Amino acid sequence: MYKILLIGPQGSGKGTQAQILAEKFNLPIFSTGNILRQRIKQDDELGKEVGSVINAGHLAPDDLVNKIIAEKIKADGQNGYILDGYPRNLKQTEFLDGVDKLTHVLEIDLPDDEAIRRIGGRRTCPKCQAVYHIEYNPPKVGGICDHDGEALIIREDETEEALKKRLATYHQATEPVIDFYKRQGVHKQIDGRPAIERVAEEVMENLK
Ligand SMILES: [Zn+2]
Repeated sequence: MYKILLIGPQGSGKGTQAQILAEKFNLPIFSTGNILRQRIKQDDELGKEVGSVINAGHLAPDDLVNKIIAEKIKADGQNGYILDGYPRNLKQTEFLDGVDKLTHVLEIDLPDDEAIRRIGGRRTCPKCQAVYHIEYNPPKVGGICDHDGEALIIREDETEEALKKRLATYHQATEPVIDFYKRQGVHKQIDGRPAIERVAEEVMENLK
């Protein structure tokens, strides 16, 4: 049975890899954002608590996220699952370890400069939300949306400065998580630089 955690920085393609694995093995993906949003729809006490935190624009506290993920694992994770974006720090990791033991922790590694090249090259149309990339998917005319001629922008959270900050936060928070699973002998590092298909093959190799 596969109980997999995919871990990786923004731009590593871990969400795509999670989807590929989910289809291949018919496993549910538990991602913090989705599970919290689903949980709000259940109009009970816990649902209301999550709703008030999210609606206030706060990051859900560890205790709350832990409780909801544990509930989800018990309800829908009995035949395996893929975790995406949880646990994201040592506190959550220690909690999860008391709930269930993971079989594979796959870290999709990407150097910071490559993450910045991938994400920082994105340009978005403020009118129709179309997303381009200056290298991989450029518009026909530089800086202009193909669909409506609007000037493309760099999203605030995709500027080089914002990305550097987020990557630093990512490394700081996830390093102890990775060390934790290294000690358990379930951690594997995969090079996230090649094309999606190649990374997917590497992921499969590491699940054998
Ligand atoms: Zn547009």
